[in-house]
Amino acid sequence: MGISRRTFLKGSGLAFGAAALTGAPAKASVDSPELRIKGLQQSTTVCPYCAVGCGMIVHTKNGKIVNIEGDTEHPINRGSLCSKGSALFQVANNERRLSKVQYRAPGSDRWEEKSWDWAMQRIARLMKETRDRNFVKEETIDGQAYTVNRNEGMAMIGAAALDNEECYLLGKFGRAMGVSYIEHQARI
Ligand code: SF4
Repeated sequence: MGISRRTFLKGSGLAFGAAALTGAPAKASVDSPELRIKGLQQSTTVCPYCAVGCGMIVHTKNGKIVNIEGDTEHPINRGSLCSKGSALFQVANNERRLSKVQYRAPGSDRWEEKSWDWAMQRIARLMKETRDRNFVKEETIDGQAYTVNRNEGMAMIGAAALDNEECYLLGKFGRAMGVSYIEHQARI
């Protein structure tokens, strides 16, 4: 069915008038035209850059990010992003992004490429050694001994990019290691 210019203008004018009268906001949706995101996998995340913690919608195709934009339903930013957050796409899709472990040994002036397994094992070993070296099992106050199981050689700090679940796991892991110095970037 053909729509004349007059019919179109009349219809859109009525729709606009109805929205203005009822004050009904447009339904929240991502900002992309539907065609651009059609058929893409959609997931939500939090901007990793600063403590504002803006919500984002990420579109992927075959596991590759093809679009990132502000989440209109997120209570912090309601769809808006600053210029840095708007360019987050370039962090994921960037030929200069480091994707392998770079290690510089103490005293060395050069970086070496290492495997993730090597890095995980080294981090785990150093954490265990640090914990064992600094673990305080008991503390005596006014002649009374108390079990404290405290690791005084480590601290943990969370960042703005962590979501609730990650914070929960990080806090739990820290306490399992006996760490009592647990902080968050936003409080410093
Ligand atoms: S989009 Fe900008 S303001 Fe929002 S969290 Fe990221 S860096 Fe901070």
